[in-house]
Amino acid sequence: MYFVEFQHERNALIGALVRTDRLQLLFRQTVFSVLGAFLAALMLGWLCWGRVDDRLVVSWLALLAVSTSFRIALLVAYFRSPAAARTPQGWELKYWLTLVLSATIWGLGALALMRSNDLLTQTLVLLFGVGMSVSAVSCYCAYRSMTVVAIGLVLFPCALWLLFQPGTMQVGMAVATLVFAAFVISATRKLSEAMETAFRLKREMEHARDVANHAAQTDELTGLKNRRAFFHHAERCHRHSRHKRLPMSVLMLDIDHFKRINDAYGHQAGDQVLRQIGAVMRECVGEGDICGRLGGEEFAMLMPDTPLHAAETRAEQMRQAISRGCGEHGEIITASIGIATMNADEQSLHTLLNEADKALFRAKALGRNQTAVA
Ligand code: GH3
Ligand code: MG
Ligand code: MG
Repeated sequence: MYFVEFQHERNALIGALVRTDRLQLLFRQTVFSVLGAFLAALMLGWLCWGRVDDRLVVSWLALLAVSTSFRIALLVAYFRSPAAARTPQGWELKYWLTLVLSATIWGLGALALMRSNDLLTQTLVLLFGVGMSVSAVSCYCAYRSMTVVAIGLVLFPCALWLLFQPGTMQVGMAVATLVFAAFVISATRKLSEAMETAFRLKREMEHARDVANHAAQTDELTGLKNRRAFFHHAERCHRHSRHKRLPMSVLMLDIDHFKRINDAYGHQAGDQVLRQIGAVMRECVGEGDICGRLGGEEFAMLMPDTPLHAAETRAEQMRQAISRGCGEHGEIITASIGIATMNADEQSLHTLLNEADKALFRAKALGRNQTAVA
C-alpha cells in the first residue's frame, strides 16, 4: 500500500517536471519562429505587391505586427519570470491564445491573398503556408496539439478554398497540400511521443540518482546522516570555520545502558529508541549544523560558528529532551554528552572529536545522563 502510494507520488512529481520541461522547450523554440513567421509574411507581402490589392497586404501585415508583438511580450514576460513561476498552469493558456490569434491572422490573410485570380500569387501563398507548417513542426514538437492547430489554421483555409476552384491545377495544389498536411500531422505523433519519452527518461534518471545519493548518505534507522556523510560534510565545514577563524563546537552523544534495553525488550525496542533519539536530534539541529549517527548508539553533531557556552546550552537542551521521553515499554532513556570546542591551535576534526569523546567518557564515569566539557 505504502509502495503504491510512493510510486503514485513519484509519477506525479515526474509528470509535473516533464510538463515544465516541455513548456521550457516550447518557449525556447518560439523565439526564432515568432520572428521567422513575421519575416515570412513580410516577404510574401513583398512578392505579392502589385499583384493583389496593396491595402490588403498592408492591413494583413499590420495585424500580424500586433499579434507578433503580443507573442514577443509573452516571451519576454516568460524569460523574465523566476524559474519557479514558469509552470504549465501559468503559461500554457496564454501561449495558446497568442498562438491561435497569430495563426488565424496568418491563415485568413493568406486566404485573402489567395482569392486574387492570379495563379502565381496562389502558388506563392501556398508555398509559404507549407513553409510555415514545417516551422510549426519544429517549434511545437513537444506539443502535438499545437502543431496540428497551427498547421490547420495556416494551411486549411487556403487549401479548402483551392479545392473548390474550377481549375484542375488549383484542385491539384489543394490535394497535394492536404496530403502533405495529413502526412506531417501523423508524423508529429511519433515526434511528440519521442520528446515526451526523452524528457521522462531524463527526469527519471535524475530522480533515481537523487534517491540513490540520499540513500548512500542517510542512516536508514534515524534519518540522520550516516557516518560517511557526516565526515564528508563535517570536514568541509571544519575547513571553512578554520579558514574564517570562526568558533566551532562538536558534541558526541551516547545512549546510556543501551545494551540493557536490547537485552530486556529485544532489538526492535532498541531500534525504536534509536529512532526516538534521531527525532530529538533532528529537532535540535540548528541551521548549518551537521548531525549524524556514527554507529551503534553513538551520535555526533558539529556546530559551526558556535562558542562553547552556546554549545553547552544546546547539549543540555538535547539531553533533557531525551530524558523526558521514554521507550514503548516504559523504559527510561538517557544519554551522556561530551563537548569540545575548536581553539586557536587549529586542531583537526579528528582531534576535536577525540576530545569530545574523552569528555563523553568522563560524563559516563561521573554517573551518566549528563554533559561534560573537554
Ligand atoms: P554505556 O552507557 O556505557 O554506553 O552502555 P551501553 O550499554 O549503551 O554501551 P555498550 O557499548 O555496552 O552497548 C551498546 C549496544 O548497542 C550493544 C549493541 O548490541 C547495541 N547496538 C548497536 N547498534 C544497534 C542497532 O542498530 N540496534 C540495536 N537495537 N542495538 C544496537
Ligand atoms: Mg551507550
Ligand atoms: Mg557506545
